[in-house]
Formats: sequence, C-alpha cells, structure tokens
Amino acid sequence: MALKIRKYPDPILRRRAQEIKSIDAEIKKLADELVEAMVLAKGYGLAAPQVGVLKRMITTDVNDNLYVLINPEIVERGDENVEGLEGCLSIPRAEAEIIRPARVKVRALTPEGKEIALDDNGLLARVLQHEIDHLNGVLFIDYLNEAKRLSLLKEYERSQREGKTSKKAKATAAL
Ligand SMILES: [Zn+2]
Repeated sequence: MALKIRKYPDPILRRRAQEIKSIDAEIKKLADELVEAMVLAKGYGLAAPQVGVLKRMITTDVNDNLYVLINPEIVERGDENVEGLEGCLSIPRAEAEIIRPARVKVRALTPEGKEIALDDNGLLARVLQHEIDHLNGVLFIDYLNEAKRLSLLKEYERSQREGKTSKKAKATAAL
C-alpha cells in the first residue's frame, strides 16, 4: 500500500523535518516507500514530509536519474536566478513561475550511507531546491507575492471542491 501524499493545507507541510541520525532498516524502508509514492504520482520529486514523515529525506527523478537523498544540504548557490514553472504534488493542479538560483550544489547521504554531491544548473537544480524547501516547511507558493498566492490558492480550493475533472491535470511540473 503506497503512502498517501498529504495535501495543502495539511499542517505537517509547514513543519521542519528532523535530521536522520542513523540509516537503519526503517529509513531504508522509508526510502523505498518515498520513491514508490513519487513514481505513482508521476512526480519529479517528493520529500518525506509530503507523506507525513518529518525526516530529512527527499527523492528526485529527473532525466531518468533517480536519487534518494538523506539530510540534503545546499552548499553552494549560483549568482544567476532563473524563472521556471513549478507545481507541487501537495498542491495539485496549482502552478506558477518561480524565480530561484539557476545552479545549486547539494551534499547528502545515500540510503547506503555514502556521501554524494550533486551539482546542477537545470531542472534537477530546481527540483532539489523545491524538495529541500519541503524539509523546512517552505512551499513554492511562499515565493509569490500575496495577490498571486491568494489567487492561486483560491483556484486550488475551487479545483479541490470540484474534484479531479478540472483542466490542468498536468503532472509534468509536479514536485
Ligand atoms: Zn512540492
């Protein structure tokens, strides 16, 4: 049974996730379940708080490269910012252009306990920033000005009420 993805405004999405102290069987199981939930939802990424687990773990699936990252940290950000369309599996069908650094370098541990460094200036960089934000209770809508955020959330709430029949059922930008 796949883990259920929590939807906005579930309060767990606003909480800070805890560092993972040791990679035991429970953590490895969580890694498998997180990947499964992301794949089923056809997302580019998913963070543990989105499945109700306040632990610092994310998974990403961009350009056929799958990563599970434990305690990921952004260690470098490029100077250049770029705008890109984002959505979120926890705020289905809501999308907005978000400005973020184009390039980031991230350090993390793999579920095998190995250190890994990812350096990217494309979609993966955006997904990594979006997912690491989830570990800190930050959502992509927080980057919008208030008017934009309110109109997006209004549309979101309406689409939640109307169910899954609404137009933008695009999973391509879902993070
Ligand atoms: Zn998200």
